[in-house]
Amino acid sequence: MTGQTATYEFKAETKKLLDIVINSLYTERDVFIRELISNAADALEKFRHESITQTDIFDGHLPLEITIDLDEKNNTLTITDTGIGMTRTELEHNLGTIAHSGSNTFMAELVEAAKKDVSLIGQFGVGFYAAFMAGKTVRVQSRSWDKSEGHEWVSDGTGSFTISEMPGLRRGTKVIVELKDDAKEYVEKWKISAIIKQYSAFVSFPIKLDGETINTVQALWTRNKNEIKDEEYVEFYKFVGNAVSDPLYRLHFSADAPLAINALLFVPTENFEVFGFGKTDPGVNLYCQRILIDQHSKNILPDWLRFLKGVVDSEDLPLNISRQALQDNALVSKIRKVITKRFLKSLDEEAKNDPEKYLKFWTAFGIYIKEGITSDYEFQKELGKLLRFESSKSEEGKPISLADYLLRMGPEQQEIYYINGPSRVAIEAGPYIEMFRKKDIEIIYTMEPIDDFVLSHLAEFEGKKLVSADRADLAIAGDEKELKEETAPGEDGRKLDHDTLAKLTEWMKKVLEQHISEVVVSKRLVDAPAMIVNPDAFMTSTMERVLAAGRKEKGFPGMGESKKKLEINPQNPLIRKLAELSVKDEDFAAEIARQIHDNAMIQAGLNVDPLAMVERNYRILNRVVQD
Ligand code: ADP
Ligand code: MG
Repeated sequence: MTGQTATYEFKAETKKLLDIVINSLYTERDVFIRELISNAADALEKFRHESITQTDIFDGHLPLEITIDLDEKNNTLTITDTGIGMTRTELEHNLGTIAHSGSNTFMAELVEAAKKDVSLIGQFGVGFYAAFMAGKTVRVQSRSWDKSEGHEWVSDGTGSFTISEMPGLRRGTKVIVELKDDAKEYVEKWKISAIIKQYSAFVSFPIKLDGETINTVQALWTRNKNEIKDEEYVEFYKFVGNAVSDPLYRLHFSADAPLAINALLFVPTENFEVFGFGKTDPGVNLYCQRILIDQHSKNILPDWLRFLKGVVDSEDLPLNISRQALQDNALVSKIRKVITKRFLKSLDEEAKNDPEKYLKFWTAFGIYIKEGITSDYEFQKELGKLLRFESSKSEEGKPISLADYLLRMGPEQQEIYYINGPSRVAIEAGPYIEMFRKKDIEIIYTMEPIDDFVLSHLAEFEGKKLVSADRADLAIAGDEKELKEETAPGEDGRKLDHDTLAKLTEWMKKVLEQHISEVVVSKRLVDAPAMIVNPDAFMTSTMERVLAAGRKEKGFPGMGESKKKLEINPQNPLIRKLAELSVKDEDFAAEIARQIHDNAMIQAGLNVDPLAMVERNYRILNRVVQD
């Protein structure tokens, strides 16, 4: 070794991770071999890709392979690859910091996952550090394909590492693990050979142990479907997806014309994004004639399919295409369209074949389907079929599809109705579904705030408009025929005449003019005295809530709020009494009117001024006990 040696401290989060790896993980140590081999294979793939476009390459004659050497005398295990290698800066950066540690919850999640199951740590992009489960020191000797000098990185994993210049290296990386006293089994050939067969069968470069190649190099996706066993698919999924459990769904799709495509896609069982460590990287790799041209490709599938794992291979792509050029390549977007449609179709088929299994998918990944609808107009039609919601005719916890809804719909019904609320119970207690219940019209319950946004983006399904039930201009099927007489008597036989009703709405509008654009006589309310409706199709009450939350965060409460309409129910005794009271005792009647408005706001899930409301409420109660 020549040149100066520099010492570096690990970053705080790396230290924490190393501490866990070294001190608390004793089971499943085999995983470290898989992680090191996977890094070697990545480095080889990267090199192969560069070597297609670059001519000036260092050590261009070296065969692309991974070699494992076991040294019983010195207790070392060495993994060598002839891949892309690392420069000094890359050694310092790639092996000294954790790439995705930006988010606060990341470390906590990582620690939890690592405690539960070490093999999960590869999914967090920290696989290299697993070497310290078995190694008391780890040396990484590396020389980049760019011809710069080689360097050696050394650490015992406790707090720091050193980097020094090391002349005479070949291209690629050598990781030398000096085994801990209790990890000596990793110098035994049978043991290593078994681990490689278990974990690394699909590495597409030869892995040599004592001069013997122990993996069969194969590209599963190019083989004939009928010849592939289920276990092979599962193993392949675990390999490409860095996964521990079996996939939920798989799609193996091959086409020759108009495009030559081989795609093997998997849906995992769990959604890691919801665990709180930020957006997942896309999990599908793009190949051309079995050569990796874009790992974790952002281009080959839409962003909202980033939860998929697998491989897309197309012979039609030019091998030497650069990553930038992939972005706006017309062929790539054609392939994306074909595969996306095919995948969505297969999901729809899976849903029909096994609805219960699809529900598992929907629970974990439904959010991506919704994201697709709001962000990608191109696939809305297919995505609409995949949506699931509870409804007034579904069982609790058993969501239905929009297609199910259409099947049950009466011939005169022209629209699909939905209403948002925090829960089934809350929706069913509210005023909005009264008329639907009375007329036996099914209404969809959307229980996530994003749902209204999704459905207003979708706008229609199979030619039927999607309509929020808090719309002011809602015309429920059949309304025209049985328009209720505005002045029909209530259950107590009393009735309001036309004039009184007109005066009452005028008067209420004046009392509430700060909050309400209009007071109208409802044709829909059955029991409740009043409800809030929205004149604007897009600005449903849910959207209002979402925006209000945003405004509050930004410190502009109240800004840009839209005025709503209040519908009143003339059959309701309270409303009828209010008409009398507004003449006899206008001030007290105004208190009641304001309270009715606040109550309706609360039922719509909208904000009211709680202090003012409570004070008013006491004033009203006081009157009641005095009477
Ligand atoms: P990940 O593989 O998920 O990125 P790792 O902790 O396994 O995370 O590796 C960190 C980084 O170190 C890799 O992204 C890569 O840049 C670099 N690296 C590790 N091993 C090698 C190798 N054998 N050859 C080249 N680079 C490597
Ligand atoms: Mg890795």
